[in-house]
Amino acid sequence: MAAVRAEHRAAGADHDWHERFIASIRTESWSEALTPVIERLSSGGRLELEDGLLLYHHPDLPELGRLAHLAKEARFDRRAFFNHNVHINPTNVCALACRFCAFRRSKRQDDAYAFSTEAYVEDLGRYADHVTEVHSVGGLHPDWDVSTYEAMFSAAKAAYPHVSIKALTAVEVKHLAQQSNLTVRETLKRLFDAGLDQLPGGGAEILDDEVRAIICNGKESSQEYLDIHATVHELGHVSNCTMLFGTVESLEQRVVHMLRLREVADATGGFQCFVPYPFLPDDTRLPEAQLATGAEVLRTIAVSRLMLDSIPHIKAYRMNVGDGLGELALRFGADDIDGTVHKESIMHLAGSTAPLDADRRRMARLIQDAGAEPYERNSDYTSFTRYVAPPMPKRRGLTMASE
Ligand code: SF4
Repeated sequence: MAAVRAEHRAAGADHDWHERFIASIRTESWSEALTPVIERLSSGGRLELEDGLLLYHHPDLPELGRLAHLAKEARFDRRAFFNHNVHINPTNVCALACRFCAFRRSKRQDDAYAFSTEAYVEDLGRYADHVTEVHSVGGLHPDWDVSTYEAMFSAAKAAYPHVSIKALTAVEVKHLAQQSNLTVRETLKRLFDAGLDQLPGGGAEILDDEVRAIICNGKESSQEYLDIHATVHELGHVSNCTMLFGTVESLEQRVVHMLRLREVADATGGFQCFVPYPFLPDDTRLPEAQLATGAEVLRTIAVSRLMLDSIPHIKAYRMNVGDGLGELALRFGADDIDGTVHKESIMHLAGSTAPLDADRRRMARLIQDAGAEPYERNSDYTSFTRYVAPPMPKRRGLTMASE
């Protein structure tokens, strides 16, 4: 079924990670409450719904983190990844009005905007010398169709061929297909031919249509999200997948969400990274949301590392969880903290305070302080460079893990 290339399937992981993980589980002692999960994993089994729920309810968060960290280390040893990227959102005009979204505007609002091809390429040009990836998602502009993005991507590729284009969420692809009277497959083919490299995972929210009806009515169905990503993989490209948690979903719906993604990953091998991120409440319209605490963010990252054994990378999206939690998440199963992200709007409009000016040195510092080794990666995890940060100035009486 899948046409995803072999180097993407490997995606920076050690090939015999599963055996190593089993061996490391067996050398440690675990509390009785974890027994069903430990027995399943150490006999080479996979976790299912009841195991995911057990992990979510496990009272010993550090122990859960230790188990997830063993799974991460079995795959990547002490390596942790970041990249150098920029977010450019081509338009905030959107035909939908998801209840959690602080970014969208109607066409008539004063601060609505829509980039021309020239403006998009000019904006990218400000960062192109320093980045290897542009991440572009935006609203469902009622006047745009596939040709709008074909023009943007082909112009960007012609001007900056070294910059990988990761763009368009599944619902944007569906919107462009409808606007252009094309199938999703035809739309994707045209976009890939124009220079699109891969799809980000945004828009998965929770893959449960009852939850979607409450938080993002009108968006693609959960099956459509999965089908669009499977089509991306069948066309030989990779994508990421996400989970927006801390709105109105149950723990069971989160675990089912992971299992549905795992099913596609098993079939296609095309999901390279899972990005779980908590709902940020400021300025948005979902007062009944059950906001995730910091511990819950770490727990969700750990559970996803253990459930999603066919998705190699688990990202602690620092633009959303913040640098502090992002760093800690590297001890709870995450192996990636995303990029230097020179420019970002969506999470910041929703309340993120993560600094935008982080450079390689700062990223390396976050990773090293978590006891890991920083590796700068390219956009699709096929090339890695060990980054050796210059020594930090001595701090008074403080010795950090990395020093
Ligand atoms: S999340 Fe995306 S589709 Fe939903 S309102 Fe915001 S921009 Fe539009």
